[in-house]
Amino acid sequence: MKINKCRGWFSDQIETVIDLGVQPWGNDFRSKDKKDESETYPLAVDFCHKCSLLSLNYTVPKEIMFSDHTYVSGSTETLTNHFKETAIEALDILNETNENNKKPKVLDIGSNDGTHLKQFKDLGCEVLGVESAENVASIAQKNGINTKVAYFNEKFANDLDERFNLITASGVFFHLEELHSAIKAIKELLSPNGIFVVQFIYLKDMVDNGAFDQIYHEHLVYYLFTTLDRLLDSYGLEIFDGTKREIHGGSGIAYIAKKGQRKIKKRLITIFDDERDSGFLKVEKYHEWMKEIKDIKIKGRKFIKNAISEGKTIYGMGAPVKGNTLLNYFELTTKEIKYLVEINPMRKNTVAPGSNIPVILEDEVSEQPDIYYCLAWNFRKEMEIRYADLENSGVDFYYPVLTNDYKNKAKYVPDEVNQNKTKIKKNDKILITGSSGLVGTALTKFLINSGFSNIFPLSSKDCNLIDKNNVDKVFNTIKPDYVFHIAARTLGLGGNLKYQSDVLYENVMINTNVINSARNVGVKKIVAMGSGCVYPDLGDDELYEDQVWIGPPHASQASYGHSKRLMLADLEASKSQYGMDYVFAISGNIYGPNDTFNLNYGNVVPSLIYKFLIANRDDLPVNIWGTGKAVRDFSYSEDIAYALLLIMENLSGAINIGSGFKHKISDIADVLSSIYDNKITVEYDLSKPDGQMSRYYNIDKLISTDFKPSFDLEKGITKTHEWLCENIDNIRT
Ligand SMILES: [Zn+2]
Repeated sequence: MKINKCRGWFSDQIETVIDLGVQPWGNDFRSKDKKDESETYPLAVDFCHKCSLLSLNYTVPKEIMFSDHTYVSGSTETLTNHFKETAIEALDILNETNENNKKPKVLDIGSNDGTHLKQFKDLGCEVLGVESAENVASIAQKNGINTKVAYFNEKFANDLDERFNLITASGVFFHLEELHSAIKAIKELLSPNGIFVVQFIYLKDMVDNGAFDQIYHEHLVYYLFTTLDRLLDSYGLEIFDGTKREIHGGSGIAYIAKKGQRKIKKRLITIFDDERDSGFLKVEKYHEWMKEIKDIKIKGRKFIKNAISEGKTIYGMGAPVKGNTLLNYFELTTKEIKYLVEINPMRKNTVAPGSNIPVILEDEVSEQPDIYYCLAWNFRKEMEIRYADLENSGVDFYYPVLTNDYKNKAKYVPDEVNQNKTKIKKNDKILITGSSGLVGTALTKFLINSGFSNIFPLSSKDCNLIDKNNVDKVFNTIKPDYVFHIAARTLGLGGNLKYQSDVLYENVMINTNVINSARNVGVKKIVAMGSGCVYPDLGDDELYEDQVWIGPPHASQASYGHSKRLMLADLEASKSQYGMDYVFAISGNIYGPNDTFNLNYGNVVPSLIYKFLIANRDDLPVNIWGTGKAVRDFSYSEDIAYALLLIMENLSGAINIGSGFKHKISDIADVLSSIYDNKITVEYDLSKPDGQMSRYYNIDKLISTDFKPSFDLEKGITKTHEWLCENIDNIRT
């Protein structure tokens, strides 16, 4: 049915802003023999010039859409956790007033398989669900969640004749065809001081994240907090609080009460202001968005076309409803994508509407494709963990929709950088600075073992790199072809902070002298050791090389970080003015023989190994700061040596290096415990901080050289421990 008026206030001043063509309804997964029977309908969104609401201009009848749908919310872990958190928050907000809500009555509209209500039930609430799809409702009933099979509207409310402290509608409030009837029903069923909590896909995040595929026939309305509030206004309801969540690529949670019942929260007013100030109440915003959507289509199709021309096979990852919006708008079929791989068993033996791509379950995949085209992009983090092994084995995961978190991290394309292949001859002259340190010794040994015969290891005893004349003299004498510049002046975490100026001066001098001398004698290429300290503090996400300059380096290592950044700038300038090729290697936690072993201020691996050794000797427990759950990439020095040679020969520019393994601090303790037959007591000191819970670097570029580490954590720790035992009297601390 074509809609000619705004769904909010029935204004006819509407304008189509987003047009995704004619499509079947996205949930119409059918068995293969009925694949040609899907009907199609216009999929376009109107903007209302009166109330700024965005809504679909066509309604597929609800009897078609909601009587037998196959979305089961319990199927992802992310969602289950999300429901738990939001249930707790909703009850907290409900109980902010002093009403006696010892056993609150909760009604969930569109309760699906009862996943959300189960959380409330576990929290001691009396629960009731309303669900229109009988097959899904029966799952809830089997799980002990009281559920009525019905459409939610005024009639339902009148028949029920009960009051609820809390009414929730999660991911369904935009579905409701009988929107106005539903709002009246909610008002009717809500106890005087009760609250209505609605979770919706948040239009502002949809636009910011490019998530146009959230537009499908079941989503009749696309809300901002402002437009939702305007809609509720005439029914005597108002939003009094609101939060935003990352789930589904950006969701909003609005807390609604009868007008005047609850105090309007400040954080909600901030959201209202933000929506207005960033232009979301004006039509121009959505004209811009349509342009972006066309652009996403061009890019997404181009990727597929290129992959196919290279003979690669592509499967879709996930068969979500929104995936069909994307596939049909992109005009993709089985010619481009062979299967959609899904974990929801209800989609087994079906084909996706429109594209007719067959859906298979994960365990039905007999041969992995070259590329997974990820349609369930909103569960990216969950998928990256679930499919880490697959990704490590070389299967590529492509995300056609990039949320803001990932926009600046578009996947690395090897061709862009691999043009600078260098083949070092076995008798080329190779100079290594910092050759007596952790990485320097490993690299020197590795190059010798690899058959290179003209190696010049340079330690601080051989040359004071702070002295320019000294450095010039060494370079002029040796005239190296290649340089690995590993040397740096560090004083540990405490020292680098205490002697900030000295650290800055000495490192700037060392790096500047080495680079200057190298280009003066015509070095072909230099690999210089940077440090993770160059990165700004960007939270817990993986760090990519192009993020070095987007903020100041972390305060605790600012001087050291700045000196390394200057080296990167110097290398880039030398390349552009003198043509000297370079790699700036950025590493995380490297460990191995010849490390500095300090109990208090050392890096985590050597200090832990040392602690276990002392604990065993003196019969003491081992004390570890924090929960031990912080995650890092720990790389063994010999693997890093191999990585340095590979990047010298294959890459240019800033390159992250590491093992690619992610480990908790407690994993190190576990390896060490087993070395000592679990006889040493390990205590986690929870009063001490963990530091950043997760910090590691994306190593796609390094992996493009076919790098594979040879040492897993157990092997690396065991070797380092052996070395420490043998050299305990001669270690650097
Ligand atoms: Zn309107």
